[in-house]
Amino acid sequence: MTQLKIAIQNKGRLYEDSMELIKEAGINFSLGGRELLATAKNYPLDALFLRDDDIPQTVADGVADIGIVGENEVLEKKENVLVAKRLGFSKCRLSLAIPKSDEYPGLSYFNGKKIATSYPVILQDFLDKHDIKADIHVITGSVEIAPGIGLADAIFDIVSSGSTLVSNRLKEVEVVTPSEAVLIANPNLNDTQKAILNELVFRMESVQRAEGKKYILLNAPNNKIDEISAILPGMKSPTVTPLAEEGWSSIHSVISENEFWEIIGKLKNAGAQGILVVPIEKMIF
Ligand code: ATP
Ligand code: MG
Repeated sequence: MTQLKIAIQNKGRLYEDSMELIKEAGINFSLGGRELLATAKNYPLDALFLRDDDIPQTVADGVADIGIVGENEVLEKKENVLVAKRLGFSKCRLSLAIPKSDEYPGLSYFNGKKIATSYPVILQDFLDKHDIKADIHVITGSVEIAPGIGLADAIFDIVSSGSTLVSNRLKEVEVVTPSEAVLIANPNLNDTQKAILNELVFRMESVQRAEGKKYILLNAPNNKIDEISAILPGMKSPTVTPLAEEGWSSIHSVISENEFWEIIGKLKNAGAQGILVVPIEKMIF
């Protein structure tokens, strides 16, 4: 039977969210400890656990068919892979940062400077594009300490909250590219493999669509149904069913978490009662 092989980071920042997404897509691996390879129990999928740096090449070579990796690694490695889906987690950006005490006149600052980074390819492309001549110094870890110990004048590295920069007395001066986890695929999958991938993407989309969404049920007097329906955004129009009690109905719909309190307030004012809000696991369109 055809199995699709997915490359996943073996530990680190991508591991947990990648495994969680796969699990929510209904795919179960029984992982004992630190296996390199695991087979799913209920889906034609094998998982191969690797360092994130190795994932783009592994997928491009066909050693794995698909993979989950940060966009930053995809851009850096320039391997021949397709992005099948953006996954929305591990969001960060690749930025240039300089000592906090330095004045920043613009990109010309970097002319003749030494920049420490683990992303020399992305950085070189950026510098070339802006006609800046700088000296790139490749280091693989703790890039942020390079200026402080005199190893470089500036850094080009992953930034998320910016707290690492602050604690190393650096300031972010240029955002070069945003990044998030992506599902990548070998461009030469056969039709069976493509079908397995498409089903996986479909399941992931159903899971992610439900994130931040709540199912809401409430009771309303029949003469308030129109007013209450207008408050509820929902996927389509809300479901309205009569209650056993004469003159009352039950209304069901879907709302977003971020507009939740505003909507609840309006519903109460419009006469809604017995409001029940429940989580949604998956949404299928
Ligand atoms: P490996 O040992 O596998 O090479 P690593 O140390 O290179 O791991 P991690 O620190 O685990 O990598 O980060 C993996 C990916 O997570 C990064 O390539 C990036 O896409 C993303 N990432 C890194 N730091 C952050 C952050 N602070 N916030 C959000 N996402 C991040
Ligand atoms: Mg790495």
